[in-house]
Amino acid sequence: MSRAKKTKRYIGIDLGTTFSAMAYLDPHGSPVTIPNAEGTLTTPSVVYFEPSGEVVVGAPARLAAVEHPELVVQCVKREMGERFYPRTILGRKIPPPAISALILKKLKQDAEAKIGPIDGAVITVPAYFDEGRRQATIAGGQIAGLEVLDILNEPTAASLAFAYRNIKRKSDGLDDVLQLIDDKRAHRIAAVYDLGGGTFDVTVLKIEGNNLTVLATDGDVRLGGKDWDDKLLQAAANAFKTKYKTDPREDEHSYEALLAASEECKCALSTSDRSRLSMTHQGKHASIEVTRAQFEEMTASLLYRTENRLNRVIEAAKLPWNQVDEVLTVGGSTRMPQVLDMLQRVTGQKPNTSLSPDEVVAHGAAIHAAITQLKNYQDSVKTAPVPVSGPSLMDDDAALPMLDAEPPLAVPTIEAPVDPADQTVALGTGLAPLADEADQLADLAEQANPSEQYDDNEATDVLRAITTSNVNAHSLGVVMTQGDKVKTNSTVIPKNTNLPTSVTRRYGTVIPNQTSVSVVIVEGDSSDPDQCIPIGKCTIEKLPWGLRKGSTIYVTLSYDNSGRLDVKATEATSGSTAQTTIDRTNAMNASEIDQAQQAVEKMEVR
Ligand code: AMP
Repeated sequence: MSRAKKTKRYIGIDLGTTFSAMAYLDPHGSPVTIPNAEGTLTTPSVVYFEPSGEVVVGAPARLAAVEHPELVVQCVKREMGERFYPRTILGRKIPPPAISALILKKLKQDAEAKIGPIDGAVITVPAYFDEGRRQATIAGGQIAGLEVLDILNEPTAASLAFAYRNIKRKSDGLDDVLQLIDDKRAHRIAAVYDLGGGTFDVTVLKIEGNNLTVLATDGDVRLGGKDWDDKLLQAAANAFKTKYKTDPREDEHSYEALLAASEECKCALSTSDRSRLSMTHQGKHASIEVTRAQFEEMTASLLYRTENRLNRVIEAAKLPWNQVDEVLTVGGSTRMPQVLDMLQRVTGQKPNTSLSPDEVVAHGAAIHAAITQLKNYQDSVKTAPVPVSGPSLMDDDAALPMLDAEPPLAVPTIEAPVDPADQTVALGTGLAPLADEADQLADLAEQANPSEQYDDNEATDVLRAITTSNVNAHSLGVVMTQGDKVKTNSTVIPKNTNLPTSVTRRYGTVIPNQTSVSVVIVEGDSSDPDQCIPIGKCTIEKLPWGLRKGSTIYVTLSYDNSGRLDVKATEATSGSTAQTTIDRTNAMNASEIDQAQQAVEKMEVR
């Protein structure tokens, strides 16, 4: 019996620290925000665990924070990559991805009520997220029962939405879309300044025709609107303490109420010169007036931290500000006039605030989902292997940073013998554990051509023509032993390298007759490995007998456009090879994800 082919449906999700949003592409190929069940375009990323076992997500959960702060989780995104959320909830230790999954489950439910069944999503993350945090985000999606089609950097999503809007506007007019695809006059440099509720990102991109290339990215995963709220909160609480000799910060309920009042006061100061902040604690009441000038003074150090990163990123992109055509603002906190003033002062131009700061990232994710879906389908119907876009150092022997000519000066930390307990085989550090390729192709063959979901052929052409390329936000290196026992981080792929990339470096064994090699991979810029994040280990067992000290070991790190890392270590004489023996201590393993998924599936989320 033949059954009708069905196109899978994917949405774009901006899983924000304080607010989340979701979008899909309508039949004309235009991104549309999907409102939640409450009818708002964004959903507070707040989770309230009711003692009954039910879970409430969004605005009602935020209100519950005042009465039951111990049962409410806010800003779980800041904890992604950690093993457990820092405090227990209803007596349980919960991994952050499982909490994110509850937010995603609510978003999925609400989206399905509006647009029908959803198979999966592209979820966005700050460009500055490291591998562990990306992994945790993917796990969150999987636990929520979503197929994570891809993880996309938030600034790339914002620029994609910006570029797509411009391309589509022209294509909806008189221009021939094919001419547009070749139109190199569309070359623009954009800087995306994204200050959300809990994270800050700044990225410089080149938009050339339909090509988006990230030139440099920087950021801070612990800097956002919340910190501005906190400055107001501290000032107000100090004033209260001076007046009444009692501190509202010492009581969870008074603290939560004060936090909410501080955020309200902050938002009011974006449009008014002055605002009031009221607080109640132990039956005493106080209200202070805050002027915008006072607020700007108390938060100047926070703004300066973003300015610092802005300068760093433009240096890394090797461009003067006068070559930047567009300064795009993203994230709710860019509504603060101090941000816009600083951007104008530093960049010498008025920031482009035409994108909806709350929706643009979700729109970019929805566009990326459509592009990825069309490309995957196209690839599945082609028989020839598909070339990878972008440069790969492995394609160009001359560019290999091997140290053939001279003997190795430094050698990786290769400790022999290796403890057999270290030999756990786990999956790489990149994206979601992918299904078997054959299964994927069979799955795609079962689907209808995704372009059929758009009435508008030109929308499909534009989507097919867009390419994006990325850089890595953190350096990747291996731990070496230098001299006798001093360990250093030897960078293999420096930060801001164009992706995909594959770099091979030559190292040597530490001792004569070494029997195994264990290459430790770290993420970070410090030369001290202890200051970096260990992300995995690759072990070659059974080296040939009789190797002299300093025998060649080639280490290859291959990093793809979406952040997947493959590691390969090869002993030169025997060809013994080990690949991606990655062990992320904080990542949830497949059976933990499975268990969490079953638990979340049973939970009532509203
Ligand atoms: P996002 O993560 O992009 O949704 O941004 C959320 C952050 O933007 C929160 O810290 C909000 O308090 C902040 N925000 C939203 N509206 C305003 C406003 N009018 N003025 C200042 N901050 C705002």
